[in-house]
This record gives sequence, structure tokens and C-alpha cells, in this order.
Amino acid sequence: MITVLSGGTGTPKLLQGLKEIVDPSDLTIIVNTLENDYFSGVYVAADIDTVLYTMSDLINDEFWYGIKGDTFITNEALEKIGCPELLRIGDRDRATKIQKTILMEKYNLAKACEIQAKNMGLECKVIPMSNEHSEIKLTTDIGELPFHEFLIKHQQKPEVLDLQFSNVSPAEGVIEAIKNSQAVIIGPSNPITSILPILSLEGVREALKDTYVVAVSPIIGTDAVSGPASKFMKALGIEVSSIGVASLYEDFLDNIVIDDKDSNLCDEINQIINKVTITNTIMNSLGVKKNLAQTILDSIPK
Ligand code: GDP
Repeated sequence: MITVLSGGTGTPKLLQGLKEIVDPSDLTIIVNTLENDYFSGVYVAADIDTVLYTMSDLINDEFWYGIKGDTFITNEALEKIGCPELLRIGDRDRATKIQKTILMEKYNLAKACEIQAKNMGLECKVIPMSNEHSEIKLTTDIGELPFHEFLIKHQQKPEVLDLQFSNVSPAEGVIEAIKNSQAVIIGPSNPITSILPILSLEGVREALKDTYVVAVSPIIGTDAVSGPASKFMKALGIEVSSIGVASLYEDFLDNIVIDDKDSNLCDEINQIINKVTITNTIMNSLGVKKNLAQTILDSIPK
């Protein structure tokens, strides 16, 4: 079995390649839940839904959010009656979120995901990192901001001075999946808000030390390919480069995959991580996604 640690943009791109070359029944995806919250009366687990939609080929992969071709009738109706949504939720996507909310009244998030994955015909396992709610505190140059207000209303523009999140417990299956895997892949997701929350779960770093772990860097040169990762890394005093990414995972990482453009960093990263793999990591086509996935699989000891 291969386990993948995922957020909601960079790693899902890799999953599109991976699922073409790996039997999905051999895949477990542990997904970040840091950003989960209630919006418009429904529970929004954006990264989980992105992974579910990616694995079932429903994802709107222009935005890495929601279902492709979705309509926005309810969203527009809410706006008209004076109830505008911070998160623009599509109609079919809202149905998924309503179902998850209903299932969570009866079960927990992990069980709700299991049921939804099965309903979507998925053979892979999709596990939330935790069933518990995470508190996230973001301090910016314009004051403390709720995370989604920073992302959406303020379009990630404020300078980030500090970011802290509460520790939560791993959901059932998280530690077991890591321990029973031939390898764990840390996809090119935001190291601070997508991967660190998973690594902060009790027992995860220890379990990773006993497993072969390969990570793909989401940073090329001195910036993230997209999103606010570089702002968050800076706020925590971490160098914004693949060297900074390697330093975050150095206690358990066996191999880091960096982009061709960063080949000059190889020697320096080698002082932190034993193996550095250099390839094209800009996943702008299915071909690149499959090649990257194959390169990762080829690096796993047989
Ligand atoms: P979020 O949950 O929406 O924040 O998404 P993730 O955490 O899964 O992914 C965000 C990260 O993906 C960003 O830091 C980007 O730099 C990275 N990313 C997005 N596309 C690519 C890509 O094609 N290649 C690489 N290497 N990183 C990417």
C-alpha cells in the first residue's frame, strides 16, 4: 500500500497522475482538515472534497475546488435574499456538503468520508487527518484574521506575522495506514497549512521514521507555485525554498523531489536529506503528472 498526505491543490494534481498508474485499491490518502468549518449552515471539508472529486474525476481542476460544470443557483439565491456566501458553493457540491453534514450528526467525519467515497465508487481510502475541529490563529499586518477571510475576502494580500493551530488527535486509521505502507508520499502541498497539521498529530512523525517517505517540494526557486505557502513559511522563519521544505521534514524524510530549475540546490539539500531527485514538477499536463508519479514510484525501495 502507498499512503499519500494531501492538501487541496498541489497533491490532488499529483493524485491525477498517480491514479493512472497505481491500482487505486492500493492507495490511502490522508487529508488535511485544518481549514474545515461550517459555512452557510453546512460542514465544509474543502480538501477532503477536492480529493474525493479528484479521485472520481469530478473535480473542477481550474480552481481545485468544487465540481466541474456545477451550477450556482442556490448561491445566487442566497445572495439575492441578503445572505451572501464567503465561500461560493456550487449546487452539486453543496449536496455533497449537506450529505456530509447529515452523516456527521450520526457518525464522525472519518465515517462520513468512508461512506461518501464508497458512494462515489472509489476504491482508494480517503481518511481525514482528524475528527476534531482545529482552531487556527492568523496574525497579519492588519490584525488577527479568520483563516478563510484572509484567503478569500483579503485575497491572501496581508502580510502574515504569525500562524498557530491547535493540536488535534489523529482519526482512526491514520497511524495504521502510515505503519502498514510500503511508502508514504508527501505531495507538493502547502507545508505549513496542509502538511504540518498532519505531521503534528500524535504519533505521525514517529510512524514516518519507520517508513520510506518521499516528498515533492511545492516551492520552486523562492516562491510557491501558487497560494500563500511562501507567506506562511516566512512568518514561521522558514527559508522559502526547497531547502526550507527539506528542513521541515528532515527527521523522517528519505527522498525529496525538487524541480529541474532548483538543481543548483542539490548539494545543500543533500546535507539535510540523503536523496534528492530532480525532475519537472510543474504539473500542467496529465503527462507531467504521470511522469512525476512514476519517478516517485521508481524511487521506492522494492
Ligand atoms: P490548498 O489546500 O488549496 O492550500 O492546497 P495544497 O496545500 O494541497 O497545495 C498548495 C501548494 O501546492 C502550493 O504551495 C503550491 O506551491 C503547490 N503546487 C500547486 N501546483 C503545483 C505544481 O504543479 N507543482 C508543484 N511542485 N507544486 C504545486
